[in-house]
Amino acid sequence: MIGEILCVGTELLLGDIVNTNAAFLSRQLAQLGIGVYHQTVVGDNPARLKQAVEEALDCSDLVIMTGGLGPTYDDITKEVTAAALGLPLVWNETAYERMQSYFARTGRVLTENNKKQAMAPEGSVVFQNDNGTAPGFAVERDGKTAILLPGPPSEMEPMFLRQVRPFLEGKTGLTFQSRTVHLFGIGESAAESILRDVMEAAQNPTVAPYAKTGEVQIRVTAAAENAEEAQKLLAPTVEKVCAMMDGYVYGVDVDSLQKAAISALKQAGLTAATAESLTGGGVSRRLTEVPGASAVFLGGVCSYTDEVKRRLLGVKEETLKAFGAVSAETALEMARGIRERTGADIGVSTTGVAGPDPSEGKPVGTVFVAVSCGWFEQVLPLQLARGTGNERERVRILSENHAIHSILQAVWKKEEGEKHAKDI
Ligand code: ATP
Repeated sequence: MIGEILCVGTELLLGDIVNTNAAFLSRQLAQLGIGVYHQTVVGDNPARLKQAVEEALDCSDLVIMTGGLGPTYDDITKEVTAAALGLPLVWNETAYERMQSYFARTGRVLTENNKKQAMAPEGSVVFQNDNGTAPGFAVERDGKTAILLPGPPSEMEPMFLRQVRPFLEGKTGLTFQSRTVHLFGIGESAAESILRDVMEAAQNPTVAPYAKTGEVQIRVTAAAENAEEAQKLLAPTVEKVCAMMDGYVYGVDVDSLQKAAISALKQAGLTAATAESLTGGGVSRRLTEVPGASAVFLGGVCSYTDEVKRRLLGVKEETLKAFGAVSAETALEMARGIRERTGADIGVSTTGVAGPDPSEGKPVGTVFVAVSCGWFEQVLPLQLARGTGNERERVRILSENHAIHSILQAVWKKEEGEKHAKDI
């Protein structure tokens, strides 16, 4: 099945908003095995919208549109699409009742304008909007399907996931299941070159990489008649990807580094604490984002100045003088200091030059991440800058990633040690 995404909104053309709907829908359709050959953006102009809808329906089996379903005169997506398909708009009582109850629930008054939103192209499937007023629609004609969804991502994404995705799965007669292998310490292109043969050969399941700052995820997706069959198909490929990427995998379906770290600490019955300089509390913030972190994360010190490094963490004056605040020696004393002072099992620290200017004669991107525990100590000397523009934010995020990953490494070392002790 060939799909096309058509986003409606003059704001998109002006660059006032970023087209996150297109990115979301493209990812979703890829997971469903629906090829997307075109993404189009068109303003709220009836003639140009009509032309775009007709062209999209000509080229593709499935056209997913977002935006322009609101109650105002310039919201024309439904009217134009129904006309292009030669379908009249008819009153949909269910949509109207749902809208009434949404207005009652949110304490707002339903205006005459809103009634326009209860009109549906004849014969369409109506997707109710649990997070707003405009319902979505699926219209089918001559083997072509047009799906119309509201513009706000907070309305469109849940509507897609809960209602449209099952509708599309129903059309393909298949259920899709995905598993995600999370990698750290390798870039997207290096990961791709290791997995290229598997990715090219894979039909069902498919194997595809996704990158975010400093992390790569490999998503394995299988299609089958039911979820159980799909999971069975997934298992050997997930295992193979993990084996091929050995040394880089930090979890499967773990959501994020911080979630993986918190759950690893919980499973091992260990606690952690942080001493942060260039990340300014970012590591603590990310760890405490995870519900239930209080069971294993004791706290941290944001030690931006030498004075605080000395007084609150016990970093030695001589160390700061001899090596500077941005050094392996200081990083290690920070990690040891926070561990001793909080009584945590694992202390982790960050110190470095986030930029934009060099510091202590050390270039931007020079970072040291240390971890200290009774069974393991490590300092990572890192160079995290690419040498292009202001990289302050990127350097800080990557430093946080390394610090959180160091916590995972500390837990794994302890487990390895225990396993080794059991084996002998
Ligand atoms: P409403 O019922 O809110 O009027 P609508 O379906 O008419 O919804 P629009 O008026 O086109 O949608 O867009 C409403 C808002 O949704 C925009 O101001 C923007 O914030 C967001 N939005 C619309 N299209 C996109 C898009 N493609 N990507 C990201 N956000 C979008």
